[in-house]
Amino acid sequence: MVIDSHCHAGQGDYMTAPWNTNAPIEPYLRRAKAAGIDKTVIFAPIHSDYSKANEQTAKIVARYPTRLIGFAFLHAKRDAGRIHSMIDRAVRLWNFRGVKVHGHEAMPTREVCEAVRAFGLPLLLDVADRPEVIDMLAPQYPDINFIVAHLGSFADDWRAHQRVCDQLVRYPNVYSDTAAVQRFDYIVQAVKRAGARKILMGSDGPWLHPGLELHKIRLLRLPPEEQALVTGGNAVRLMRKVQAERTTAVAVQRRREAPRSLHRNGSRASANGVGRHRAHDAEDEG
Ligand SMILES: [Zn+2]
Repeated sequence: MVIDSHCHAGQGDYMTAPWNTNAPIEPYLRRAKAAGIDKTVIFAPIHSDYSKANEQTAKIVARYPTRLIGFAFLHAKRDAGRIHSMIDRAVRLWNFRGVKVHGHEAMPTREVCEAVRAFGLPLLLDVADRPEVIDMLAPQYPDINFIVAHLGSFADDWRAHQRVCDQLVRYPNVYSDTAAVQRFDYIVQAVKRAGARKILMGSDGPWLHPGLELHKIRLLRLPPEEQALVTGGNAVRLMRKVQAERTTAVAVQRRREAPRSLHRNGSRASANGVGRHRAHDAEDEG
């Protein structure tokens, strides 16, 4: 299964640049299908209100449930105080499988990391040319899998790429996607030094062509089993860890709520709902 692990969908509201204006999913999906991409991780464009934006993401996922997987976008400062409840809503209501934070807006705080860890989600972080934050975050939260977007820089900063290559080797919990990386040899270096299991194919669609971004991975000429990791296997593995940990989290939560729910109608129905959802996912991922 080929998975694009980095794509935006929906409308932004600032309207000062493509990444905060519009990310139409349909043209992306046509391109992705033609390129042989089976599933895509989507999250909002840059937005002034991520509660609204995540709701929009959920509606888009609901339109294409077999092709799209949602991540919750969060602003570490603006959403301070409600990070946990925003993630809780995204996981329980919409079955989202990860969190995206953009360093241009605010770097992840402890509140973000604690919540991400509680739900066992991967944290996709655009460090925005400041990869040094990974040297703070990764050792503080060794049980969070950090996926560094764009190998550290959308803006073609080779120093950031070089530092992220080093971090991929140094930290077992640091991964990177390849979206929009222009300097091909840094991707070569990342795979050679850190191994194919640390790299995820991402496109930064719909603004970048998913076929072109996927072709970059094919040009690495990796052995088939390594290429399969980069083009989907790693994404599945990182999101599966979520499933296992979330199952535990849900079970713990349910045990805590058990005395109360004995007196409540409908608690059994919601428990069944969760179970059905999970079985469907497992089937879906094959
Ligand atoms: Zn992006």
